[in-house]
Amino acid sequence: MHNSILSSLTTLLGKDKILSGDELKQRYHHIWHMDKPLKAKAIALPRTTDEVASILKACHTQNQSVIVYGGLTNLVGSTETTGNEVIISMEKMTSIEEVDDQSRTMTVQAGVLLENIQNAAKAKDLLFPLNFGAKGTAQIGGAISTNAGGLQVFRFGMTRNLVLGLEVVLADGTIISSLKKIIKDNSGYDLKQLFIGSEGTLGVITKAVLKLVEAPKSRNSAFVAFNEYDKVVAFLKFIDSGLAGTLSGFEVIWNNTFQTMTSPPAAMKPPLPYDYNYYVLLESLGSDQKRDQQKLQELLEIALENNLILDAALAHTKSDLDWFWQIREDVHVLVAQCNNDQHFDISLPIPLIGNMVEQISEEVKDLPEVEKIFAFGHIADGNIHFIVGKSEESPALIKQINDIIYLPLQSIGGSVSAEHGIGLHKKKYLPICRTPAELQLMKNLKQMMDPKGILNPGKIIS
Ligand SMILES: Cc1cc2nc3c(=O)[nH]c(=O)nc-3n(C[C@H](O)[C@H](O)[C@H](O)COP(=O)(O)OP(=O)(O)OC[C@H]3O[C@@H](n4cnc5c(N)ncnc54)[C@H](O)[C@@H]3O)c2cc1C
Repeated sequence: MHNSILSSLTTLLGKDKILSGDELKQRYHHIWHMDKPLKAKAIALPRTTDEVASILKACHTQNQSVIVYGGLTNLVGSTETTGNEVIISMEKMTSIEEVDDQSRTMTVQAGVLLENIQNAAKAKDLLFPLNFGAKGTAQIGGAISTNAGGLQVFRFGMTRNLVLGLEVVLADGTIISSLKKIIKDNSGYDLKQLFIGSEGTLGVITKAVLKLVEAPKSRNSAFVAFNEYDKVVAFLKFIDSGLAGTLSGFEVIWNNTFQTMTSPPAAMKPPLPYDYNYYVLLESLGSDQKRDQQKLQELLEIALENNLILDAALAHTKSDLDWFWQIREDVHVLVAQCNNDQHFDISLPIPLIGNMVEQISEEVKDLPEVEKIFAFGHIADGNIHFIVGKSEESPALIKQINDIIYLPLQSIGGSVSAEHGIGLHKKKYLPICRTPAELQLMKNLKQMMDPKGILNPGKIIS
């Protein structure tokens, strides 16, 4: 079987597009595990949608399981292998086919890096408003397959709001192509949404039409500080209404996380003293740099006078902006402080976040093996991240921490995944935020679209 799929793929694509044996030793399943050689039968490196289709047709015929590799930055184990899979790596499908500044769309192959998409939009005075720390490595196909969120969801929505058309190859090699540039299309089921966020379990995304917006003419940011969580929520309402639609980011960082992000070995220095419980980094995107900065400053002054906030640092220059956002985006600074790191991205109603983070942090810190817990998040979206560092990596300890963080979400209508997805790591906890009927419908869809179960088997649902 092993040789048979290898020789089929080599015949179909040519030897230079298939890696196997020792060639896999330099490959890995995740950017944070580059020291662990990849266990797989082969890696296929297609250049075109037709090549992806022929790979899948061969794998389908031979009941061969397949995992698609994008930038390998996911945080839920969704690119882990058992050794029996064929990997389809999208790294050679990097063409930006068109930037249409009239329709405000970009048509791309799935392997284009998110950062290259942002830059191509910028070159035409447009903005692709999907942004997160891994933008230099994550591919657009990976972002679509995980329905990535990030730093500007509050204003522009998740990835699914930014995709107008998709080309996808189904498990049996059928190509479904709907690369329309239109915003409104109610002609029956919105099929592309099935593939967005399905982590490579329903099809392989080969191309996308992305929605762009006019590039903002101004960008302003400030760090503000609080001691009470209720004031964070009150300030969110105040600043959102005061900025009248231009607020695009509202990130909260808890005190110990802020200290770690802004003191050695981290390269960044703190823009505010370490005296406060909560720090918010906010961003507004507008039309006039001077006027918008003045407006933000006025609003911060009113908030200070009314004791809504305790302290503030406004970014006055481009280098201040870069400094502030580098603090927030460089999550690796936190990961580097953790042994056996465990990551969380839960969703819950905004007013409940303060108490819930306190309660969870206390319970997690009480476990003797836990060394660190960092909390921060896209709070205007109700989305909190935890990174937990611990002295050991036993399945029992992982479960204990998962239980503390996930189980309370059921009764408050939360979600075990705000934006990272389910993959392998959260599979057992899916019933916390999905009803039995929803889970059954998901299984039915998977069975219908991939009856042989060859696409990313074991991920999301069994
Ligand atoms: C430092 C850092 C910061 C991050 N910040 C955020 C954040 O703020 N918000 C957020 O949402 N995520 C964040 N992430 C998680 C991650 O970057 C996203 O999930 C990203 O979208 C994954 O893209 P990728 O190309 O790396 O996909 P991969 O990790 O390669 O793959 C992810 C999943 O998609 C599937 N897949 C990949 N390409 C395709 C394709 N073409 N067709 C079908 N399936 C495919 C894979 O099989 C896998 O199941 C962060 C990660 C890191 C390391």
